[in-house]
Amino acid sequence: MKTPIPFYLQEILTKVRDNRDGAVADYIPELAKAEPEYLGAAMCTTTGHVYSAGDDEVEFTLQSLSKPFVYALALQELGLSAVRDIVGMEPSGEAFNELSLNRDDHRPVNPMINAGAIAVTQLINGVDSEPAARVERLRTYFSRLAGRDLLIDDAMRSSELEVSERNLSLAHMLRNYDIIQDEAHDAVSTYVEQCSIVVTVRDLAVMSATLANGGVQPVTGDKILDADVCRLTLSVMSSAGMYDGAGRWMAEVGIPAKSGVSGGLLGTLPGQLGVATFSPRLNKEGNSVRGVDAFKLLSKDMGLHLMSTDERYGVNPVRKVEQDAELTVIYLQGLINFNAAETILYELMESDFGEGTVVLELSHITGTNRMGRRMLKEGLRRIRESGFDIAIVDPDGELEDRTMSDGTKVPKGEPEDYAINGEPV
Ligand code: GLU
Repeated sequence: MKTPIPFYLQEILTKVRDNRDGAVADYIPELAKAEPEYLGAAMCTTTGHVYSAGDDEVEFTLQSLSKPFVYALALQELGLSAVRDIVGMEPSGEAFNELSLNRDDHRPVNPMINAGAIAVTQLINGVDSEPAARVERLRTYFSRLAGRDLLIDDAMRSSELEVSERNLSLAHMLRNYDIIQDEAHDAVSTYVEQCSIVVTVRDLAVMSATLANGGVQPVTGDKILDADVCRLTLSVMSSAGMYDGAGRWMAEVGIPAKSGVSGGLLGTLPGQLGVATFSPRLNKEGNSVRGVDAFKLLSKDMGLHLMSTDERYGVNPVRKVEQDAELTVIYLQGLINFNAAETILYELMESDFGEGTVVLELSHITGTNRMGRRMLKEGLRRIRESGFDIAIVDPDGELEDRTMSDGTKVPKGEPEDYAINGEPV
């Protein structure tokens, strides 16, 4: 069988292709040379499957797409408190290159605007690092994220450096308030090198899926970031990733995302997917016009909106309950997280078990999280306290640690031990 996903991505590209609104960024002379017609899309699952369509091998520079990843690296290297000392986590609602710092403590408001990104870059490889060593640390980090050796576009780098007055003034401001220690020129030049790293739309999807996957690069299996770091990064991306368009983006698309003036756009669905598009014409907020269109379609058609309540609560975690005089078997299904466990415990509280044994049957569940496991065990313990025997049927060992809060273990049985009407699971 051939997977339909690339065809599906192609269909999305066909739907957005005719929108020729917007213009290629030209404030960096080298960027102005971009071919405006390029259009590509890619998707990478947290299981490491990569799909793409259109101009998926064309290389372009990361620009601001680098910002969430460098923020993540700083969090990984230094921890939240040190990073928060120099950059906030609030949406700015302003343009990417706004000359703005917090009024009271002079920190940039978030790491997705240039002021914040320049400050964060300067933390990488230690604040005392030589600029060249810092750049190499960044380049190798991005290469690990993409799963291949990435290079820096020299022409882009020098072209941007020639027009960096605004970023230089940001760096001077940051230095003036002791937010950065580097010479303003060094700080901007390192930041510009990071912006000039070259990727394809497939690389972007894989990099984004690494954030979705708790920091494990899903294709290579390389553990690059902690899950907590990914959670923080995605949180900031969701409120500040799309510049002054961030609020509307969250409402209309609902996928934590980041755009870059090269025309790339990446979105991250925690636990599920990394998505990326590439199309160089930008709207007035600096986001790719056809990228935004494509993301709107993807979000709607695939039900990817993070705030969607349509599908999330669809599966009842209690599949069925079977009972005879001596035995109640409760068959569970789906992912047992807090929400699911609460539903199960509520149902247990309301049930009349008669007497004998109460069994939770776990062979149809797709997984558990810590809170889900803890609540299931606590529910079972309480059932036992009120005079029943308890057990689980758990052929896949989902409840690996069966120790309950009183130190005893949940007894484990085989399906045939709990046959009702002669019919085991
Ligand atoms: N290197 C660009 C700048 O600092 C990045 C801007 C962007 O992609 O939004 O101006």
